[in-house]
Order: sequence, then structure tokens, then C-alpha cells
Amino acid sequence: MRIIIDSGHGGKDPGASGFGMQEKDLNLIYARLLAVKLENYNMDVDTSLLNDNYYSPEELTNRIKKSGATLCISCHNNAFNGTARGFEVIHSIHTEGTVAKLILEETRKTDFPVRRVFSRASTSPSRAGEDYYYIIRDTYPEVETIIVEFGFMDNREDFKLLTNPVWQDKLTAAVAAGVNKYIYSDINGKTKIQGNSILHPNQLKAALRAVNGGANTGVVDIYYDIAPIYEIKADLAFLQSIHETNWLRFTGVVKPEQNNFAGLGATGPNNTGLWFSTVEAGVEAHIQHLYAYAATASIPVGRTLYDKRFHLVQRGSAPTWEDLNGRWAVPGTGYGERIVELQKIVLEKYPIEVSDLPEIPPSTHWAKICHDELRDAGLLLNDHTDTLDQPATKGVVFCLVNNLRKELMNDE
Ligand SMILES: [Zn+2]
Repeated sequence: MRIIIDSGHGGKDPGASGFGMQEKDLNLIYARLLAVKLENYNMDVDTSLLNDNYYSPEELTNRIKKSGATLCISCHNNAFNGTARGFEVIHSIHTEGTVAKLILEETRKTDFPVRRVFSRASTSPSRAGEDYYYIIRDTYPEVETIIVEFGFMDNREDFKLLTNPVWQDKLTAAVAAGVNKYIYSDINGKTKIQGNSILHPNQLKAALRAVNGGANTGVVDIYYDIAPIYEIKADLAFLQSIHETNWLRFTGVVKPEQNNFAGLGATGPNNTGLWFSTVEAGVEAHIQHLYAYAATASIPVGRTLYDKRFHLVQRGSAPTWEDLNGRWAVPGTGYGERIVELQKIVLEKYPIEVSDLPEIPPSTHWAKICHDELRDAGLLLNDHTDTLDQPATKGVVFCLVNNLRKELMNDE
């Protein structure tokens, strides 16, 4: 899913101001940092609005709608009477504000004052039932737009924090964390079809070997290769095939040579469903069928459509596994729940082994190498590894420069 970031105001429109600073300049700092943070989560971020240009409301909302993004985050800073403080998120009256609430909760953890999440309906009779803020109103329903008001720049305390790079980093990290939760977490107790896997592939292979020793565990890797291309949870997709094929034993009407891992098109002994020439094509068709239910976008560029039943699905009609009840399986009571339950069983019964985990390099302070080289060169007399983030006194700087001076003199 693509996210477009808007830095509020720009060009001839400076927005609010506080303590000699214009809102548009502060917004741009926040918008740029937020884009980087979201990209760090591997999100597809449209940065075409990160500039100091003025766009008319119509041009701005058209650009947002044409971006192909499903979420727009418009970055702003507030001003009121000098005493109001805090972080706010505004969402559309047509949504429950789930992403706004998740962002606010993440921001609360930073100890920055948080005010509220809210939506505001237009009071104009010609816009009854529409949003008050044009950027939210005129991008709906193609794009879900939220406005993030990081703080009140006309309040002295807020301004101090808002212009501090440490807080800029913390606040944008909090917004990105909230967005990440929104995209990948579960909704209303149901489990999203799209998102990241919880299980390591080796856990699924261990479970498969335990139940069906003759099974080809390489199928697991194919699910983990293909599902992420569609942002589908590979572990649950594979567990759906486990459920459909009885642990790859194919004891139902579908035969192993069909490479049909999810019973696509199979309705009974007279109609055993689709055939695929390879395991990879069969797995991809399964993932595509899930994608048809979970998402509304077209299939990723460059992929071949193997699922001949893709167009029979009402796109986006089942974003969660539980929503597949009565759709993928009829009547299907408890169908999605059983797949999610299988994940829990594998998680508990086949714990991940430490040797499965990727090695995490110990984190190194950005200035550590510099520090060590100065120590080795004899220019820094003591070890300062634990205090790299503390400010240096003038005295320390003078001594370091003087050591350097003496060193240069010696060389001559
Ligand atoms: Zn603004």
C-alpha cells in the first residue's frame, strides 16, 4: 500500500507562525522525517509533495488522488492563544479514526503532551454529511487522509520541543509506528490477511514433518517467497493450504498433481478444481485469490495472473481471515478462526530455535569508530565511550585541538 506525505502549506501560504518561525518550514522538517521513518518500515512512500510549493486546494487534492496512495498524512503545526499545547490527529467523519488513534497512542509513549483525536463535519448546508477540512473531504473516498498537528508552535514549551531534533525524531517515529500498526495489526479482534508472518518458516517445516513425514517442505519456502509480494501473511496462507489439503496429504477431491493448494474451484467429486503446471504457479494462484479478497489494488506489476477465479471475487470483501467464512468456505462457520488457531498451535508446539534467527550485529554508536581512532592515535587520552552523547566543554575541545597541534608540529 502506498502512503503520500503532504507537508502542510508552502510557497505564498506560510500557515501559522510562532516565535519567528513559519509553520510551512516546520511542517517540511516533520514531513521529510516522517517519510524516512515510513520507508524504514519498507512502506511505499510518495514524497512528491515534500517541497515549499503552493498548491491550490483543488490541485493539492487532485495530486493526492492521482498518487495511487490509499493513505495521506498531512503534516501541520498548530497555533491558538499561546497557552494551548499538544499533539492532535484529525480523521474523516467517514472513518472510525483507527489509524489516528494508533498514532496518538504511540505519541503518548514519548511523553509529548497529547490532546485528542477528532473528526469535524462541515456545517455548510451544501456540504451536509461531508468533512470540514478540504484535504480530507476532497480526497475521500479514494484516499483516507489524516491531518497530524504535531504541536502548538505559538506555545513556548511546545515550540521548544517541536524545534528540537531529538523530539522531531521521536514524534515522527511515533507517527510511523502508529501507521505500521494500522497496516499490519489485527482489526477488531480479527486477523488481517495482509501483513507480516509471525511464524518462522522452520517452525512450519517442523510441524509439517511431524504430521506428514513424506511432505515436501520446500513448499513452505515458496509461500514465503511469493506471499510478501502481495503483502499477504505467508504463515497463515500456508496454514490455509495445510487445512485445505490435510497437511499436503490431499485426501479430498483435489489430487497432488493439480498443484492446487487451496481447493481453488473444487466443489465436489465431479469438479475437482483448477490445475497448475508448477508448484510455484499453484502457490501464486492461492496467494492471488487471497489478495482478491483482502485488497482492492490490481496485482503487482510484472506478476502473471494464475488464478482463473480472481475476477469472480468481490475485491476487498474480506480483509481478515475470519471474513472468509461463508465466502471462501460455505457455510464456513469458524473457517478463518481454525486457520488462525493453527498458527497459535504451531507457535506453541514448535518453538523457534535460536539458530533460526538472523544474527543481529551489535549496535555501534555513530561516533565510536572516530573515538577509537583518536584514542589509537594518542590524541584522546581517556576512554569516552560511555559519554559520546554528552556535550563537550570548551576545555575538552581546547585540549583535543592542542594535542592535534602538537602532533602536527612533531610531524614537521
Ligand atoms: Zn497548518
